[in-house]
Amino acid sequence: MSARKKLVAGNWKMNGTLAANAELLHGIKQGALATACDLVVCAPFPYLAQTSAELLGSPVTWGAQDCSAHAQGAYTGEVSAAMLTDFGCRWVIVGHSERRQYHAESSALVAAKTMQVLRAGLTPIVCVGETFEERDAGQTLAVIESQLRAVTSALAQAGESQWVNRVVVAYEPVWAIGTGRTASSTQAQEVHAFIRAQWRTAFGTSADALRILYGGSVKPGNAAELFDQPDVDGGLIGGASLKADDFLGIAASA
Ligand code: PEP
Repeated sequence: MSARKKLVAGNWKMNGTLAANAELLHGIKQGALATACDLVVCAPFPYLAQTSAELLGSPVTWGAQDCSAHAQGAYTGEVSAAMLTDFGCRWVIVGHSERRQYHAESSALVAAKTMQVLRAGLTPIVCVGETFEERDAGQTLAVIESQLRAVTSALAQAGESQWVNRVVVAYEPVWAIGTGRTASSTQAQEVHAFIRAQWRTAFGTSADALRILYGGSVKPGNAAELFDQPDVDGGLIGGASLKADDFLGIAASA
């Protein structure tokens, strides 16, 4: 049994209304008291004030789904990591495949965002993952290695050793996100062990504390088997985080 505390984070993506969120957050807050893992909600920017107001005083913490690679200034439409701290955020998802795919985010940009998150005192949840074509071509580990190296290099260059211990990595095979297809527990474990080995090469024994989440169509019915793997430290949950019962059902397996 690993000493790493399991973490289950919900990524609401671009979903929600004030009314729907109020009900969802209320349900999560109620159920969280019976949950043993760390529970996180990553809401859209306009709903962070509401999320903070609803969750304050509960064991559930919250965060955002992205932030700017810049600290401040003339970047219309961008939101800085420092702004997120004003809303009590503790977490920021960076490098989600939907950002890499639809907004052409490079691994270098993801690394720059990761550094901004750390500089602001927040925890980045850094997403990595291969496409179906890449897996099919036998390139899975090479893709993961390259995406991860951008972040480990930036961390090494920053020279802030305490930042290394704050990072969370999420392995999200692109072909499993929102598709109903899940990586098998064996496929997930293989990549998670590889990520931990990469981290060990870069940062030594701090790899033992690195939390690596699995994301990709996790549901209450498949969470337990995935979370049972030695290097799977919880999940990043998309669709199933929009229903309190499903999200809490997943958390109950962690
Ligand atoms: C995600 O968006 O991070 C995700 C894993 O989505 P889903 O659970 O819906 O596949």
